Amino acid sequence: MVNTTSKVRRIGVLTSGGDAPGMNPVVRSVVRTCLHLGIECVGIRRGFAGLLAGDIRPLDYDASSGLIRRGGTKLYTARCEEFKTEAGQKKGADTCKFLGLDGIVGIGGDGTFRGLQALSHQGISVVGVPGTIDNDIACSTYTVGFDTACNTAIEAIDRLQDTMQSHERCSVVEVMGRHAGYLALNVAVACGALAVLVPEKEVNFEEDILEPIRRSRLVGRTHFMIIVAEGAGSAYDVAKRIHEALSVDTRVTVLGHVQRGGSPSAQDRLVGTHLGYRAVQLLAEGKTNRVVCCNGEEYVDYDIEEALSMHKTIDESTYTMIQQITGTDALSRMMGLRV
Ligand code: ATP
Repeated sequence: MVNTTSKVRRIGVLTSGGDAPGMNPVVRSVVRTCLHLGIECVGIRRGFAGLLAGDIRPLDYDASSGLIRRGGTKLYTARCEEFKTEAGQKKGADTCKFLGLDGIVGIGGDGTFRGLQALSHQGISVVGVPGTIDNDIACSTYTVGFDTACNTAIEAIDRLQDTMQSHERCSVVEVMGRHAGYLALNVAVACGALAVLVPEKEVNFEEDILEPIRRSRLVGRTHFMIIVAEGAGSAYDVAKRIHEALSVDTRVTVLGHVQRGGSPSAQDRLVGTHLGYRAVQLLAEGKTNRVVCCNGEEYVDYDIEEALSMHKTIDESTYTMIQQITGTDALSRMMGLRV
């Protein structure tokens, strides 16, 4: 049903910050929801940089075709320092007014939400959609891109395990996560890693890394998998210390940007579609300065200010579980040692 009551006639959608698989399904959902509501939708290219440059393209049914399964972001993404200044934000708001944009949907992480909030302070209606492989947005139990990134990392690590097993080596794998360890933690669980290093948790190298390898060796294991989030320290240092302490042949693999690519998983397509749909509905209802989020199975929204003030902490129970079922504890019990 076409909405004839909304005053919103034209909205812009942008992707900003680090790209994440699933941004395209969000864009598609935004475009299709706009069509359903009789709202014109334009794509703003390269995030806030494109907004400042007035770099927009019309997005219609055809332009959003095929996006449900496409990785990356059709709209391109960028980081824009100028937008962090008040002059930049005022220029952005003036561009919105000049282009006749009644609202902006911004897909990205907390930096993107700060940019949207600044635009809202300049009188522009905004809604944010959490799209980041880090899953570090506190108000949302899930961020678009996380599941695909986990699956990509897992697939690569499974392949590594084959060669590590053949050569009886210790593999130290660096996954993305400069400030957040969720990706590393989930990947460690899913790959059965012996230990994981995350930025949120101080590690006792002797107890948390070397001891599980020692005990694993004592029960006959000859290959080992250690996962390091990029913000938790250098994977090369970790490998060097393991080699020096235990004379184990180690190899480092930095998965890098491959984790950002690939066709979005079912979860990222589903969640992305729901969030894009909800974001446009909020704008059409005259709401602004909101972030749409997942709350388990539910889709909810928060004030951006409130969303940015919330903090997400690493899931301690998952970390403990890895130690208990894969690392030192399980091996110690197997050997009849004190845990
Ligand atoms: P990710 O962490 O996944 O890369 P992000 O959205 O947090 O995503 P950032 O690079 O932090 O990525 O932010 C993206 C863009 O948002 C910045 O380049 C800048 O244009 C804008 N931005 C970030 N912080 C602010 C701020 N405090 N005020 C205005 N704009 C901001």
